[in-house]
Amino acid sequence: MEITDIRVHVLEAPDAEDVADGSQHATVIEVETDAGITGIGSVAGAPPVVAKAIVEAPLASSITTGLREVLLGRDPHDVEVLWNEMYERTYGYGRKGAAVATLSGIDIALWDIIAKAAEQPLHAMLGGKHRDSVRAYASTLFPEDPDDVDHMRREAERALDDGFTAIKYGWGGITEDREKDRALVETARETLGPDVDLMIDIGMGWQNDLKRGVKQINELDDAYDLFWVEEPVYADNIDGYARISRACSPRIVGGEREYTLYGFRDFIDRGRVDGVQPDVAIGGGITHVEKIATLAAERGIPIYPHGYSTDIVIAANLHLIAANQNAPLLEYCIEDSPLRWEVVNEEFSVEDGYVTIPDEPGLGVSLNRSALDEYATEPWTDWS
Ligand SMILES: [Mg+2]
Repeated sequence: MEITDIRVHVLEAPDAEDVADGSQHATVIEVETDAGITGIGSVAGAPPVVAKAIVEAPLASSITTGLREVLLGRDPHDVEVLWNEMYERTYGYGRKGAAVATLSGIDIALWDIIAKAAEQPLHAMLGGKHRDSVRAYASTLFPEDPDDVDHMRREAERALDDGFTAIKYGWGGITEDREKDRALVETARETLGPDVDLMIDIGMGWQNDLKRGVKQINELDDAYDLFWVEEPVYADNIDGYARISRACSPRIVGGEREYTLYGFRDFIDRGRVDGVQPDVAIGGGITHVEKIATLAAERGIPIYPHGYSTDIVIAANLHLIAANQNAPLLEYCIEDSPLRWEVVNEEFSVEDGYVTIPDEPGLGVSLNRSALDEYATEPWTDWS
């Protein structure tokens, strides 16, 4: 089997807001083969036009080239070889960031092809499934206005109505004022009652005041019982993670902007985190998230795959979660975004707080062509 084309769909939502919810744009990847099998992938964390450029760029040097150059004519079954080549041939401008995110999207599509060719679900290609369904947590944002405690109540009620038994709030107005932070978390806990797991995502907000972070995490945990505190500081601040982790009672997790097994080795071993959150469409694709999951298992910590973009990522996460025993939770965004839900035809619904692992061949998703047409945007330059 040979790869014959790579298509990058640049999608943009109408009326996008400048908030940290990833809903403004989406990059969908299609890898075509001469066997008539097309693989589907998705890139997150990089602007779609940048991902497109990283695929299309012509050869500049052996370590500074576009990914199309690496992939055309190659067999998708050589996915691990191709991962290494994509990593090495973008090394001049890659290693972390947009180049790794883009190769991650392609890697997802290659695995989709391999599983479709075998007429097996992806988890069967990854060693089988440990579970038929997984507990999902509702993922949403703190209000932009830190006085808006009603937002906390509304989101908690929505999660409870939908059957979730865990909810995470992130980014937005948290960390602006200690008393206001406390009121926000208090409202969530009061609405949820004592039995629902509550997580907070600091969106790196304590990067410039670690001591405040430590004090506040422990106060909030004592009063409102936090299941985890996420991304308190930059991923690069590994020693900061270690200091916070040592000094705080709840789980400290992060990694949605960390990359590859190489990055996660230090993040786990030096950062002393209690759980890792690689994003399959950012941090290394199926190939490296599998390795990261194995490393985490060896170190005795869970993997909580990050997923805040398209349902293609949700599907990939479901297969990764199925295939790894130390993956007990699915991130499930409850915010409205057409790009999140509409790019595939399938729906991953939550029933009694759980989502079923797909058993159809490949990722188990198909592209919704009318949505791709509707949200397609012309790149800002001529790529032909
Ligand atoms: Mg996060």
